[in-house]
Amino acid sequence: MTKIIGLTGGIGSGKTTIANHFQSSGIPVYIADDEARKIMQTAEVINAIKEAFGETLFEGVVLKRDKLAEIVFNDPEKLQQLNEIVHPAVKRHFKQWLVDHKGFPIVIYEAAILFESGNYKNFDLIITVTAPLESRIQRVIERDNTTREQVLGRINSQWTDEQRVSKSDFVIENIDIEIARRKTDEILKILKIKQNEC
Ligand code: ATP
Repeated sequence: MTKIIGLTGGIGSGKTTIANHFQSSGIPVYIADDEARKIMQTAEVINAIKEAFGETLFEGVVLKRDKLAEIVFNDPEKLQQLNEIVHPAVKRHFKQWLVDHKGFPIVIYEAAILFESGNYKNFDLIITVTAPLESRIQRVIERDNTTREQVLGRINSQWTDEQRVSKSDFVIENIDIEIARRKTDEILKILKIKQNEC
């Protein structure tokens, strides 16, 4: 039976960096935010977003993602409305992805809002990636060429590191990337041992 490990962390903590490390160790990784981005381009989701948020968010058939992000990350109700459209579609997609990877003993599901969405209950174990707030802000400003205010808006819409850590089975502190990778390798070793015991 495949063990499904949830991998989460706040914006800029380094989830995807750690997910990539798992992947390079041969563990299949489902990056939920990337998949959601693709799913948001499907006709079904586009129509639902148009209905909920209005046509002005679109230029022809192209969704103005920046505009949508600005709305939802500053309005919890709108964020919930968007999640209610996108999450069920991602859930269906992931179910099929699992079928496609059924021969693997361990797979990773990476998502920013694993706890906030309540989705964490569906995983065998949870790993949280943490990093100091200021590092996260600077990383995202550099990566996305965005403003401090926009990053803070997103951080404030998510759980805190303390909340995530309190509900996690493993924590990877990602300050020095090499130390974080070594910790990832240690966790992977433990996961493999646990899996062999089953
Ligand atoms: P998001 O929630 O926005 O998707 P994330 O948690 O997946 O972010 P990453 O995209 O992995 O975070 O990392 C954010 C940025 O910080 C990237 O540009 C990445 O290369 C960089 N980064 C990751 N870890 C470190 C580190 N230990 N030191 C310096 N930079 C790092």
